[in-house]
Amino acid sequence: MAEVILEHIEKMYGSKQHAVKDFNLHIQDREFMVFVGPSGCGKSTTLRMIAGLEDISDGILKIGDRVVNDVPPKDRDIAMVFQNYALYPHMNVYENMAFGLKLRKTPKDEIERRVRDAAKILQIEHLLGRKPKELSGGQRQRVAMGRAIVREPAVFLMDEPLSNLDAKLRVEMRSQINQLHRRLGATIVYVTHDQVEAMTLGNRIVVMRDGLIMQVDTPMNLYDFPQNKFVAGFIGSPSMNLITGTVKNGQFMVGNDPVAAMGKLAQSLKAYEGKEVLMGIRPEHIGLIGLTETPVGTNVIHGKVVVVEPLGAQTDLIVEVAGQDMTVKVEGQALVQPGDDIELVIDQTRLHAFDTATEQAIDRGTALGKRGQADTPDLGYEYPGVAKKGAEAILSKERMAASSD
Ligand code: ADP
Repeated sequence: MAEVILEHIEKMYGSKQHAVKDFNLHIQDREFMVFVGPSGCGKSTTLRMIAGLEDISDGILKIGDRVVNDVPPKDRDIAMVFQNYALYPHMNVYENMAFGLKLRKTPKDEIERRVRDAAKILQIEHLLGRKPKELSGGQRQRVAMGRAIVREPAVFLMDEPLSNLDAKLRVEMRSQINQLHRRLGATIVYVTHDQVEAMTLGNRIVVMRDGLIMQVDTPMNLYDFPQNKFVAGFIGSPSMNLITGTVKNGQFMVGNDPVAAMGKLAQSLKAYEGKEVLMGIRPEHIGLIGLTETPVGTNVIHGKVVVVEPLGAQTDLIVEVAGQDMTVKVEGQALVQPGDDIELVIDQTRLHAFDTATEQAIDRGTALGKRGQADTPDLGYEYPGVAKKGAEAILSKERMAASSD
C-alpha cells in the first residue's frame, strides 16, 4: 500500500481548456479519498493523471516515494475500476479475474490463490464458473472489483464505479466497498458526483469546482465547517439555506427579524456592520415552535409556508421568509398547510455566514479549531454510523466551546 502525493498538478487540454488548476493533495497510506463535484469540475481528469491515462501538464505526482509523472500506467502499481466495467463476455468470472495476471505471466498457482482470495472477500466464490450474462448488475460490479483486487495494487483508483447500478443496488454496493476498504486496508481514490456517496465512503473528501479544490476535509467537517459558499451548498441534502441580509447591531437581519450568532461568528460579523452577508442555515437546523424539538437559542423568524413535501419519515417545507425561499426539514409529518404563517426557530449554534463578494466563510476559524485540521484525517472514522451518537455529543460540546471562545 502507498501514499499518493500531488504537488501543483495542472492539466491543460490544448491551450484553452484548463481542466485542473494547482491541485495539491497528500493522500495517506490506506486512506479512502473521494473526489466529488459537479460534472466537468476535473475529478476524472485528476484521477486519470494519477492512473497515467492522461499526461500531467505541470507539477509532480508521487506514488509511494517514487515520482511517477513519466512512468507508464502498467508500472505505477495501481488498479482502476471504471463506471463501465466491460467484462469479457466469453470468459467466465474466474477467467475474467485471472486475465490480467495471466498477461503479466503470474504463476498459475499464484493466480489461483489470488482469484480465490478475492472471490472470498467479495462473496462471489459460487459465481466463478458463470459467464457475465448470467450475473446481475451488482454481481458484475463485484467481478470488476475482483479484477482490481487480484492485482494487489498499491492504490485503487475508482471512477464512478456505481453509477450504472440502480439506486437500491448502489446503496448495497456502497456498504460493500466500505467493508472492502477495511478488509484490504487499501489506499483508494474514488471519483463520484454524488455527495451522499462521498460522505458515506470517504475518510476525507476533496470538493472540486472548475478544476479547483474548494475544500479538503473529513465528511463531518465539510458538513459542519464549510469554508465557502460552494461547499456549503454542495454538501448536505436538502441544501443549506443561504439567505441574503444586512448586519445590524452585530445581528443578521432577515426582513425585520434579527438573528444573533454566537461566539467567534458574532465577533466576526461586527466587521460587516451595515453590509450585506449570506447567512447559512441547514434545513435540519431550523425548528417549528410546537412541532419540532426547539433548537438552541432564541432566534425566531417569521415566514409563510409555500410548499409542503411529505416524504414519510420527514417533511420538507418551503417557507417564504422576507421574500426569499427557505427549506425546512421537519421530522415526521408537519401539521402545516401552504399559506400558513409560521415562526421558525434558527439553531444559534449552527449558523454559518459567507462574504457576498469572496463567498468565503466569514468565521473560518471554527473549522481550524480542534476538529478541523484538514491534513490529519482520522482514519479510525471509517463507519460514520457507528460512533455517531458519541461523536455528535462531543461535537455539540466542542461547538459550544468554540462559540464561547
Ligand atoms: P469530471 O470528471 O469532474 O466530470 P472531467 O475531468 O472529465 O470532469 O473534465 C474536466 C474538464 O476538462 C471538462 O470541462 C471537460 O470538458 C474537459 N475535458 C475532459 N477531457 C477532455 C479532452 N480529452 N479534451 C478536451 N477537454 C477535455
